[in-house]
Amino acid sequence: MAYLKIIDKGKGVNRLFIGGVHGKEGLTTIKALKKIKDEDVSYGKLVIHNCDESPYLSTLDPFYYQSEVGKEVLSLIDYYKPTFYVEAHCYNKKNFPKLTSTNRMNEKGVPPLIELEKGVLVGSASPSIRTNIFRKEDVCITLEMPCNPTQESLNICLDVLRIFAASRTREEIENSIKELYPKQLQTAIKYAKEFFGKYPPF
Ligand SMILES: [Zn+2]
Repeated sequence: MAYLKIIDKGKGVNRLFIGGVHGKEGLTTIKALKKIKDEDVSYGKLVIHNCDESPYLSTLDPFYYQSEVGKEVLSLIDYYKPTFYVEAHCYNKKNFPKLTSTNRMNEKGVPPLIELEKGVLVGSASPSIRTNIFRKEDVCITLEMPCNPTQESLNICLDVLRIFAASRTREEIENSIKELYPKQLQTAIKYAKEFFGKYPPF
């Protein structure tokens, strides 16, 4: 059964954390998502949704958002209208070079993912939802951890999720990330500018 948790601290920003959007990734992403507790949310709302297992189709595949789970993701975004969106994924370690390669732009048409540490990667959400569904000022990220992650990798993911859960504005998110990962934030802003033109979004 899909996991759903709603933390409502009254008026404020809407946040949506989704995991398990394809294949068996939900078995890993739930390990991080279920650790987010009511006290992690400062104010506003956080919806956490971990999807059931589904056939694996890349979110960059044009047919993904026509698949059953793809439509589920779209309807969650449409219903909750999040200002902060985190899509949690996991990857096979052998794909690390491909995901972080500076050639990813040529090969897949999207910027490389950026390693925070311990194999935890961040990037923008799939361009088809980033540019067509979200508003420019929204903050949307893909958060990738190795499948079957070590406790250290899980903790890095949790740090990022908690920043998104506690922050009220894009600025607060950026400041918190900057404290922990200044170089990676700079790179993310550079890729966002190259890919989307005027920054934000990422
Ligand atoms: Zn994935």
